[in-house]
Amino acid sequence: MEAKVDYYEVLGVDRDADARTIKRAFLKKARALHPDVNKAPDAEEKFKEVNEAYSVLSDEQKRANYDRYGDPDGLGGFGGAGVDVSDIFGGFGMDDIFSSFFGGGASGGRTARTAGRDMGITLRISLAEAASGCTKTVAYDRLAPCDDCNGSGCAEGGHVTTCSRCHGTGRVVTVQRTILGQMQTQSECPVCHGTGHSIDHPCETCGGQGRTPNHETVKVEIPAGVHSGQSLKVEGYGEAGIRGDRSGDLIVRIDVQEGERFQREGDDLYCVEDVTALEAMCGCTLDVEGVLSDERVSVTVPAGSQHAQHIEVEGYGMPRQGSHARGKLVVVLNVTVPGDLSAEDLEAIRSIAAARGERVAGAKAAEQAEGFFGHRHGRAASAKPKHKK
Ligand SMILES: [Zn+2]
Ligand SMILES: [Zn+2]
Repeated sequence: MEAKVDYYEVLGVDRDADARTIKRAFLKKARALHPDVNKAPDAEEKFKEVNEAYSVLSDEQKRANYDRYGDPDGLGGFGGAGVDVSDIFGGFGMDDIFSSFFGGGASGGRTARTAGRDMGITLRISLAEAASGCTKTVAYDRLAPCDDCNGSGCAEGGHVTTCSRCHGTGRVVTVQRTILGQMQTQSECPVCHGTGHSIDHPCETCGGQGRTPNHETVKVEIPAGVHSGQSLKVEGYGEAGIRGDRSGDLIVRIDVQEGERFQREGDDLYCVEDVTALEAMCGCTLDVEGVLSDERVSVTVPAGSQHAQHIEVEGYGMPRQGSHARGKLVVVLNVTVPGDLSAEDLEAIRSIAAARGERVAGAKAAEQAEGFFGHRHGRAASAKPKHKK
């Protein structure tokens, strides 16, 4: 942030103004400056300034930082702890919200639309969160019912009456006589813009729409076992309707981040575990980290297991939605050869191999080969795949 503009000055409010006052001041200025309404050359620039001032002063954390340090980001920390980052989809950026608000709302189109639209956001969660289920607080912007008039669009003492022109239908029918007979055309009522109401004293904050742009936070309950691409609906948290009409819903699309440890196939989880060749030959028991926090899974590796072999453990995969069951955990073995055996260990193994008629080199030949290839031990160690932090 370079130029030091005073956000309070931009909105024309006192430094101790409360949230409502700030919002009212912002809406009044923004409504007058919105590019859809104001065609003056500097209107857009001013609109941006007002918008920036409001985005800081309407956020408690940013405002506190701005007051204390003169910078909404404070001393480099990010504010808004505990709130999840979400992506809005379906064209619901702040610009679109402003356009709906300032650009005349329902009167813009051919068909009157007074109910609010559904809105969509994407919420990213971790695999562990998907496994256990969780509650997330997401933040987004929407047109919300106006606080000052409770969504009615009416100032105190004002009245909503049925539009006298269209008698509340929001549409007018014009009849024309043509040589083919009478032709009827229906169109939006020019008096009430299709809402069917008229207001004698509209609310100043929302300009009679009954809704205002608002920074919203909402808690979303995410069920255990949720899949990527699945959508959850939060009823009534989409765009608010005009003058108390039905609000749209908030559609939360889940994006599960799998991370490095597990790969998910349906409700099954795959993970790779290292075992040494000796462990694979003789069999062993692994203590493996599960997907739920603090979950440990005991995995029996049978004697004679092969590299890349799958060992399935029922009931330790992802929860199956709508039941108490879980998928399976599939452990994929990564067999590694120990490179640090002592001369005595090697001799013991050599005698077993020789008795089996396997093509092993004698101690002398092995020594020569080692000298020839150089750092045999070092190579064996680095060939071990990086795994387990
Ligand atoms: Zn009307
Ligand atoms: Zn209002």
